[in-house]
Amino acid sequence: MTVADKDLVYVVTGASRGLGLEFVTQLLHKGHLVVAAARNPKKSSGLESLASKYGSALTLVTLDVSDADSIKAAAQSISEAHPNGIDVLINNAGILGSFVRSSEHDAGELKDILITNVVGPLLVTQHLLPLIRKGTKKQIVNISSTMGSVSGALKYLKEGLNPMSKMQLGYRASKSALNMETAALALDLHDEGITIISICPGWVATDMGSSSAAAMKIAGPGLDAPTSIAGMLKVVEGLTLEQTGTFYNYQGNVVPY
Ligand code: NDP
Repeated sequence: MTVADKDLVYVVTGASRGLGLEFVTQLLHKGHLVVAAARNPKKSSGLESLASKYGSALTLVTLDVSDADSIKAAAQSISEAHPNGIDVLINNAGILGSFVRSSEHDAGELKDILITNVVGPLLVTQHLLPLIRKGTKKQIVNISSTMGSVSGALKYLKEGLNPMSKMQLGYRASKSALNMETAALALDLHDEGITIISICPGWVATDMGSSSAAAMKIAGPGLDAPTSIAGMLKVVEGLTLEQTGTFYNYQGNVVPY
């Protein structure tokens, strides 16, 4: 990392715990300025302890990605904290939904998942675009999932169905839509020099990752958050505009949409 890179400003949504909190932890450790956006930042013991350790390098902002007014207010706070722009937006906040057969998925829950996992990242991106345009890196990272890969899902028909392959319609649809959001914005924003990717963290031991194992009564994820985040940050740090619109995993391999 060059000296100049240390002054980069990252914004991370869903920063209270899990992968979001680990993004904030590693970015601060690398010397960056970080905006940690969370529904209740004061209720996150992890964020509170990072705030006392890193002082003004960390800005805590209240942000509920399912609430348009909250997104607008958060964007205003971020522009006051960083009027010269932000470099990288990481749309990390997300929800999983309940474990039911896809054919029995509740329609109301589907709407809630789409609002948080698809509409939320779009609104956050739209409200922060003026600051991203002012930044040096001009990068947007959508935290997606291989569960959103249509080609990946259909492989189960050839390679063998399992209980999990029959579930998670809402989550799959939301991450698939998020991937198309990545592609559509990549096309629209390319000429402004803005890079946007989707990336899958792998199956990681967080509240979300471990809940899948508990629901399916199978062994938990073998991947920890520090390893996943270190991998994703390596991908992000090496990003160029030529890579815009691509779907990666945390190891830097391209994932088919
Ligand atoms: P967790 O459930 O551990 O954490 C989810 C985070 O998202 C929390 O900080 C939560 O905040 C926040 N969040 C949820 N809804 C909202 C909202 N409306 N507004 C703001 N923040 C919200 O999940 P992970 O850390 O594991 O997941 C992070 C991302 O990684 C998600 O997008 C997920 O889909 C993706 N992912 C995770 C995988 C895994 O195996 N863990 C695999 C593939 C993708 P709060 O504390 O307020 O609830």
